[in-house]
Amino acid sequence: MTAESYASQFFIVAHPMTSPNLEKDLRAAIRTIPDYPKPGIMFRDITTLLGDARAFRRAVDELVQPWAGMKIDKVAGIEARGFILGGAVAHQVSAGFIPIRKKGKLPYKRVSIGYSLEYGIDEMEMHEDALEKGERVILVDDLIATGGTAEGAVKLLRQLGANVLAACFVIDLPELGGADKLRKMDVAVRTLISFEGH
Ligand code: AMP
Repeated sequence: MTAESYASQFFIVAHPMTSPNLEKDLRAAIRTIPDYPKPGIMFRDITTLLGDARAFRRAVDELVQPWAGMKIDKVAGIEARGFILGGAVAHQVSAGFIPIRKKGKLPYKRVSIGYSLEYGIDEMEMHEDALEKGERVILVDDLIATGGTAEGAVKLLRQLGANVLAACFVIDLPELGGADKLRKMDVAVRTLISFEGH
């Protein structure tokens, strides 16, 4: 094999999708289930993306691309799909991982915060020693809709003194205003694709 053909093979393996095709490829890898979990909701199911090796790798690489090469101390993932993506991102950027969980799941001393859901409020928690003051943190979840969940997570991280560099999501539902809500909190927001509606 010549050096050139070896290099082109490597390029194909390392960069299976070209940038202009990113959105199209990710969109095709996400399955939409209408009326789940209730009528009127278009559920954006990322299990199909996670099962597609190329799409999964590309999504993880692209989520933190603007911060590549910067020092990131911790990646925080929101239960449960944020654990899968956030864990992979943490490995990719050589950072530690912080699970942000629903109330009652973490075994050690916790800090907690209430956050708004479509109907009512819920609580999410973090271990109180999950990070040190001033650590540089990136928040990861699969999707941002109203932003209530991510807003709660940012507040919780800041409560422990985190420097929240950014919040990254594969999917944005811009009509629901979540990304704008985070930007108003001085958090940089990275999303890879958007869908209309709910
Ligand atoms: P929100 O707090 O309104 O931004 O909602 C975001 C959280 O709810 C994320 O953890 C998402 O996984 C989940 N979520 C909200 N809407 C959808 C949807 N249409 N499809 C899939 N997950 C959703």
